Amino acid sequence: MPRLQAPPILPRDPAASAEHGVFARRIAVVTGAAGFIGSHLCERLLDLGAEVVGVDNLLTGRLDNLSHLRSADGFRFQTDDVTSPFQVAGPVDFVFHLASPASPLDYARHPLATLKVGAMGTLNALELAEAKHARFLLASTSEVYGDPLVHPQPEQYWGNVNPTGPRSVYDEAKRYAEALTSCFQRSGGTRTRIVRIFNTYGPRMRADDGRAVPAFIQQALAGRPITVAGDGSQTRSLCFVADTVEGLLAAVTADHPGPVNLGNPHEITMLQLAEEIRTMTGSVSAVTFIPLPADDPKRRCPDITAARAHLGWEPTTPLRDGLRQTLDWAQQHFPRQATAATGRSAS
Ligand code: NAD
Repeated sequence: MPRLQAPPILPRDPAASAEHGVFARRIAVVTGAAGFIGSHLCERLLDLGAEVVGVDNLLTGRLDNLSHLRSADGFRFQTDDVTSPFQVAGPVDFVFHLASPASPLDYARHPLATLKVGAMGTLNALELAEAKHARFLLASTSEVYGDPLVHPQPEQYWGNVNPTGPRSVYDEAKRYAEALTSCFQRSGGTRTRIVRIFNTYGPRMRADDGRAVPAFIQQALAGRPITVAGDGSQTRSLCFVADTVEGLLAAVTADHPGPVNLGNPHEITMLQLAEEIRTMTGSVSAVTFIPLPADDPKRRCPDITAARAHLGWEPTTPLRDGLRQTLDWAQQHFPRQATAATGRSAS
């Protein structure tokens, strides 16, 4: 039986595959496996010959994201809430901890679950890695920099975070998760890696998750107004999911414990993004403006000097190519009449 029932979405890079030979016959646990990035990571690990145990409670993820992997050789899925201690049978070589709501709409809908998964979920995932003598990777976020006062953001920047604002449930949960991971690293018992992921986009983002790329695509495809927050001058740097996944694989095997930024240093304003998507879809949608959400960062751009130096990683997918793949997927998968997300952030 072939490993993948559906054609893989991620492009194959023979050079990178050779570099990632280290994953062959290794066993990787991926928390948050049914989510956007987690499902791509599972797919790539299987493709590299790893066995994968996907763990998810389906809070914001979907089993559909894994449907093409469910019967693949080497893939197991466990429905577990990682905020309670969870067991994985047998040996484990790597624990990738991705479980967490990630979009501003999602963590506004699930504030306590977001705090718990950053705190208790990270502790349980670290304890699993410790018990199994596995290497641990924390998927942290550029949100630890808050609304940054330094551009681009290097890892040495400690951030400008509002600890009580509406985004704090996510920002502070991830900052706590970083502190916990660093504590395990310092104690010497567990090899840990921290990556700070900047805005990632690609196939399998939900139409209703509130992030700019799927929201603009959904609106453009439906011929509805494309709603840009503020005056659209706020920037993001958008990294295609295949590049982010390569960064996660490079980080978990690298000597550098991190934190290390993973993102695309090419900045784009939200207005430029809306116009690019309108052009690419051939849509007649007007661009309209809605109020900026609270604490929305005005600029977001990674300094990826450390990723280049320590991981030998940088993104390679041009924005147009990534948007094209995302659009092709959205045309087949987005509901035609989905309700527009409101109160949207550029994140
Ligand atoms: P996502 O919401 O698509 O995936 C997160 C997954 O975690 C979901 O499948 C969800 O069901 C699962 N989950 C949540 N709480 C859980 C719990 N208690 N137990 C088990 N599973 C649980 O989000 P994503 O965009 O794929 O993000 C994945 C990770 O990457 C997150 O940790 C996020 O903070 C980080 N990240 C993502 C981005 C981005 O642009 N997508 C940027 C920065 C950081």
